[in-house]
Amino acid sequence: MRRGVALALSVGAAATLLAGCGGGDGGTDARATPKSSVATTPTTVVGTAPPTVAPTTVPVTVVPEFAVSVTPVTAAELGSSWREGCPVGPDQLRRITLSHWDFEGGARSGVLVVHADVADVVTTIFRRLFDQRVAIRRIEPVDRYSGSDDASMAADNTSAFNCRRAVTSGPAQWSAHAFGRAIDVNPVENPYVFGGEVLPPQATPYVDRTNLRPGMAVPGSPLVEAFAASGWQWGGRWTGSPDYQHFSADGN
Ligand SMILES: [Zn+2]
Repeated sequence: MRRGVALALSVGAAATLLAGCGGGDGGTDARATPKSSVATTPTTVVGTAPPTVAPTTVPVTVVPEFAVSVTPVTAAELGSSWREGCPVGPDQLRRITLSHWDFEGGARSGVLVVHADVADVVTTIFRRLFDQRVAIRRIEPVDRYSGSDDASMAADNTSAFNCRRAVTSGPAQWSAHAFGRAIDVNPVENPYVFGGEVLPPQATPYVDRTNLRPGMAVPGSPLVEAFAASGWQWGGRWTGSPDYQHFSADGN
């Protein structure tokens, strides 16, 4: 028995060490048979492993990688989402082209327009969302929707900059989106329930937050956590009028 273990160790395979750890205190004769088979298997594994077979099957699986680019943006490119008198100028904004996963499990490219001072952190957040495979319907600048927040939400479009007023019942004030420091994600799956009104109306089935479906922001979800990890705050925590789609740098 003991002589047998010494013999197995001299063969030099790590597997025999593991077998020795597991069997050092137990039965007696039952162990004698495994020992001899352990001594033979390492030699065959080591002998047949070499790389000729494995590489030929690898190219079949191609995993897309997160791609991102940050570029300046002009007034012409901002189109209807910007005009004279907005609180930030085109020179303070950046256009981020980045990868995201869609609801069909495919990797797509989207464009976010954000304030220059949050471009890096937004890149970090969306890299996390990509790594976590969080489904996002589409990411397009709101000028594709003539600057209409309603039209953008109805299309389930994820967007950031839009020179518009906040949707509140108080005095008129700029939205955090007008500074490029807020992002609305999957508005249909994550409605803004404003005084009982569902925005967009198409999101009514998603007012029920207990029925979890892809793309939804709920406490502890990868979507909410990706923003929280960078210190961004979630409008879904607002009591009274929760804005489940809304994430912002300063909580507004
Ligand atoms: Zn918002």
